[in-house]
Amino acid sequence: MEIADRTAPAVIVAIDGPSGTGKSSTSKAVAVQLGLSYLDTGAQYRAITWWMVHNGIDTDDASAIAAAAGKPDIVSGTDPAGPTITVDGTDVAGPIRTAEVTAKVSAVSAVPEVRARITELQRALAREAVGGIVVEGRDIGTTVLPDADLKVFLTASPEARAARRSGELKGSDVHATREALVKRDAADSSRKTSPLAKADDAVEVDTTDLTLQQVIECVVTLVGEKRAGQ
Ligand code: C5P
Repeated sequence: MEIADRTAPAVIVAIDGPSGTGKSSTSKAVAVQLGLSYLDTGAQYRAITWWMVHNGIDTDDASAIAAAAGKPDIVSGTDPAGPTITVDGTDVAGPIRTAEVTAKVSAVSAVPEVRARITELQRALAREAVGGIVVEGRDIGTTVLPDADLKVFLTASPEARAARRSGELKGSDVHATREALVKRDAADSSRKTSPLAKADDAVEVDTTDLTLQQVIECVVTLVGEKRAGQ
């Protein structure tokens, strides 16, 4: 196992892909193993969506969302062993995972003012991360950090993704989960502002038939190769 080398140059790793491809588990484990910070950008979009819902803003009204986009104070803790997320000082790690937030997050994150605000937070965190950071999301390699040292795009069949998500959301119906995932990916891929997309220089890894451990090892190896070539 490669262990954290505190003397290695800072490295920025962008991990993108649709839901259920193992992005979060992989990104966190790679960051722990290599001693890097970790940022879950989906959690930031979920947090701003939670704030909109909590404040009674109609998430189908793009202009109302745009007008409020600058109001919530969203703070992400980037320790991969215990990532945190607060909105105006309130811990929202639990509330951002509800079915309601999941159903509304694609509409909120499609609003350009929301993306501009969250992208700014993401770039500041990446700049401040001593030693480097693993940033996971949908548009990290294409838009947020186009100069990342390594870009990985994770994919998996819709069946594998739904099965993994149903396992996480214990007891949920695989068919319904698959439908919801496909719908959310379609919305995320078709929006005008920085859609879910693979960067031209990203390495695509199909995780359908891989274990989590194999995906982690693959990404750690890719980081090692990049560092060796620097
Ligand atoms: O990764 P997660 O499933 O938690 O992301 C929730 C939602 O946040 C996505 O479906 C997408 O609408 C939005 N998102 C985004 N850009 C990112 C990360 C997430 O638009 N970089």
